[in-house]
Amino acid sequence: MKRVAVLSVHTSPLEQPGTGDAGGMNVYIVQTAVRMARRGVEVEIFTRATSSDLPPVAELAPGVTVRHVVAGPFEGLGKEELPGQLCAFTAGVLRAEARQDPGHYDVVHSHYWLSGQVGWLARERWGVPLVHTAHTLAKVKNANLASHDTPEPRMRVIGEEQVVAEADLLVANTDVEAGELIKLYDADSAKVAVVPPGVDLDRFTPGDREAARAALGLRPDAVVLAFVGRIQPLKAPDVLLKAAADLLARAPGVRDRLVVLVVGGPSGSGMKTPEDLKLLAGELGISDVVRFLPPQGGAALARVYRAADVVAVPSHNESFGLVALEAQACGTPVVAAAVGGLPVAVRDGVSGLLVAGHEPAAWGRALAQVVLHPAFREELASNAVGHARRFSWDRTTDSLLAGYAQARDVFREEVFA
Ligand code: UDP
Repeated sequence: MKRVAVLSVHTSPLEQPGTGDAGGMNVYIVQTAVRMARRGVEVEIFTRATSSDLPPVAELAPGVTVRHVVAGPFEGLGKEELPGQLCAFTAGVLRAEARQDPGHYDVVHSHYWLSGQVGWLARERWGVPLVHTAHTLAKVKNANLASHDTPEPRMRVIGEEQVVAEADLLVANTDVEAGELIKLYDADSAKVAVVPPGVDLDRFTPGDREAARAALGLRPDAVVLAFVGRIQPLKAPDVLLKAAADLLARAPGVRDRLVVLVVGGPSGSGMKTPEDLKLLAGELGISDVVRFLPPQGGAALARVYRAADVVAVPSHNESFGLVALEAQACGTPVVAAAVGGLPVAVRDGVSGLLVAGHEPAAWGRALAQVVLHPAFREELASNAVGHARRFSWDRTTDSLLAGYAQARDVFREEVFA
C-alpha cells in the first residue's frame, strides 16, 4: 500500500472542529492520516475549496497533503446544496489523478455519503477499491430526531443506499452501526468491518483540576457540568440546560457553585446557536450559571475536560461520540444518552452513566448522582481513564490499513475473476 486518496467533500481537515460542519469526522481523518503517513503510506485528502486564498495543495503533516478542489462558489454554500456540486468536485478529483503516473492511488476512502458518491466514480475510473465510512446515516438520524430538528431528505437516503451497494468495504464505528448498515441499508455483511475510533492519548491526559479551573476563571469548589460539541438539535445541549435546572431544584444549595459550560459553535438547523440556548437558559431561570465558550483547540480543550466534574453527551443519536472518550481520557466521568455508539464509548456505572431517553428529570437525577457524591465521582473518574485507554488512533489506523489491503485483494479477485 503506497498511497490513499481520502475524500472529505463537505468539510476540510484543516478546519477547527466544534462548529459548522467540522466535528469528529475531521478529527478522525486527520488522526488516521498522520498515522498512516508514519507507517509509510502517503495520504492525499480531497476537500472542497471554501476560500480563494487556499492553495491547490497544502501539506497537513509529512506525508499528508490536502488538495483543494474548486466546485461551486467558495463561500456561502450550505451542505444541503453540495449534491449539486458533486459533478464539479468529481471532475476535479479525476483531473488531479490524471496528472499523476498510472496507479497513483491504491485505494479510495470516502467519508460521509457526499464523498461516497465521488468515490463511487473514482473507483470505476481508477480500478481501485472504494472504502467508505458513513459517520452518520440518514435513516438512523431520522428515526431519532429532536423535536425541533429537520429530517434528512430522501435524496440523501437514496445516495447512501447507492454508496453502500457500490463500496468494497464499509467501515463502521461499532457493532450497532454495522447492524444498521446491514438491516436498514441491506449491506452485505461480508463487506462491513467494525473499526473503533480512537482518542489522542498524548493530548487528553488527566491533569490538575484546580489549575484547569483557575485558567477558566472558575472557583476551585465549583460544580462544573460541561457540554462540548457543535451546537445543533441532534447534540441536544438544551437537555443539559434543562437537566441543570432540574439539578438545582433537587439541590438548591449548589446554586452559587454551579457552572454549566457550553463549548462549541453553531451548526445546522433548529436550536443551533448559543443565542437560542441563552434564551432557554433565561426561560429556565439559570442564565447566571450558564457560560458559553467558542470552539476550543489544542491544550485549551483538554483544560475544559479537566475542569469539569462531569461531561454530558445528551445527543439524540451519535455514531460514536469522540467527546465522550476525550473527556474520560482526561479523567472526567461522562453522563451520556444510551444511543448509537455511546454505550461503547461509556461503560455504564463504571466510567460514567448512561441515561435512557432525554427527560430532564432523568438527566438531572443522573448528574446529581455523580456531582453530589464525590466518592462515586472519584471511582468513575479513575475508571474513565482506563476505559479511554482501550481506544487509540494507532489501533484504528492499523485496522484501516488491514481493511484497505483486504478490500484490494477482494477487488482484484472480483475484477480478474
Ligand atoms: N471539538 C473541538 N473543539 C470544540 C468542540 C469539539 O476540537 O470546541 C472536537 C472534539 O474534540 C471531538 C470532535 O470535535 O474530537 C467532535 O466529535 P464527536 O464524535 O463528539 O461529534 P461529531 O462532531 O462527530 O458529531
